[in-house]
Amino acid sequence: MTDGPAGPRGAWELTDLDLPGLQRQIASLGAEPYHAGQVFAWVYKRGVTDPAAMTDLSRALRDRLAQACTISTPEVARRDVSVDGTTKYLLRLADDRHVEAVYIPDTPKQTFCISTQAGCAMRCAFCLTGKMGLLRNLRPGEIVGQVRVLARDLDLLAAPFNIVLMGMGEPLHNYDHTMAALRILADPAGFGLPARRVTLSTVGVLPGLDRLAAEPYMPNLAVSLHATTEDLRDRLVPVNRKYGLADLVAACARFPVKRRDRITFEYVLLAGVNDTDADARRLVALIAPVRAKVNLIPFNEAAGLPFSRPSDARIDAFARELAERGVRVSVRKSRGRDIRAACGQLLVEGGRPSPAQRMATLME
Ligand code: SAH
Repeated sequence: MTDGPAGPRGAWELTDLDLPGLQRQIASLGAEPYHAGQVFAWVYKRGVTDPAAMTDLSRALRDRLAQACTISTPEVARRDVSVDGTTKYLLRLADDRHVEAVYIPDTPKQTFCISTQAGCAMRCAFCLTGKMGLLRNLRPGEIVGQVRVLARDLDLLAAPFNIVLMGMGEPLHNYDHTMAALRILADPAGFGLPARRVTLSTVGVLPGLDRLAAEPYMPNLAVSLHATTEDLRDRLVPVNRKYGLADLVAACARFPVKRRDRITFEYVLLAGVNDTDADARRLVALIAPVRAKVNLIPFNEAAGLPFSRPSDARIDAFARELAERGVRVSVRKSRGRDIRAACGQLLVEGGRPSPAQRMATLME
């Protein structure tokens, strides 16, 4: 930790490049490509973004790098710590857009919940992020940058951690940048994050799901289902009008999950909307063709969202209906609700958000 957020300001953004991309850039500066691995280690293992401090590079290469590239790091605009230790970061990007990322301690591992877009185009009826609309896609370096900032701030650069892409945005709606970010995170020269430590959560953008099925780097997959009929899902998750429930489940059934792995179906429980025993039984039948488990997310209430959270007794009864029929089921514990860091609690007030108000919300 020898430098602050400000890095060099040159023509290309170093943090958007995977290792082969950086090797090419370094070769174009007239240096040996293997130096890219050293730079990766500085930036991702040690949190150093000032080329002048990269002391195992020649002085000439340090100077050339400083002139040629930019190394951007999101700035912490605000940090809220929950009574349960969950910490929500409001991060300022280079163009003054803001995103949120959340640190969830000990679940059982350390977890970072990060964003892939500023805002979101999906407009799910129960999610505050959706109320913002899509402001813009994040670049690969901005997605990875959230991890760099949190790991550094929390002194976890050398610790094992999990990543969930469950912050603001729909990862498969920003497919190329999201996958580029995952390749950067995975590279052993940097964080070396194995794919099994990453969970990509999607509303079910089918072309993206089919592309993901062919990726060499395969994160865990979570699919936001939330309804068991086309009609209800059309209303709760508007993208269902384009990529319907039946096609989504079929895509999940043919998705190549490794032996012993399962797709997670996320199901937000909304009182009186999708939480009856009949819903639970329809859910069992719907997902029967898929090697799956179900993660129930009791709705996190927020001003402006016309839903409420079912009682604990109803949540338990719903979970029991699934479990008794052989479905693996868990109920997501709400973390960080006191600091509005729980799922879907992104807040936008008045329709025209100021940067400080462009608060996402995330996960638990
Ligand atoms: N776009 C991705 C990631 C979104 S956030 C996706 O849709 O999967 C991760 C989860 O939080 C999703 O399942 C989302 O539906 C859920 N969520 C959104 N708002 C919520 C709220 N108010 N209460 C509980 N869960 C919510």
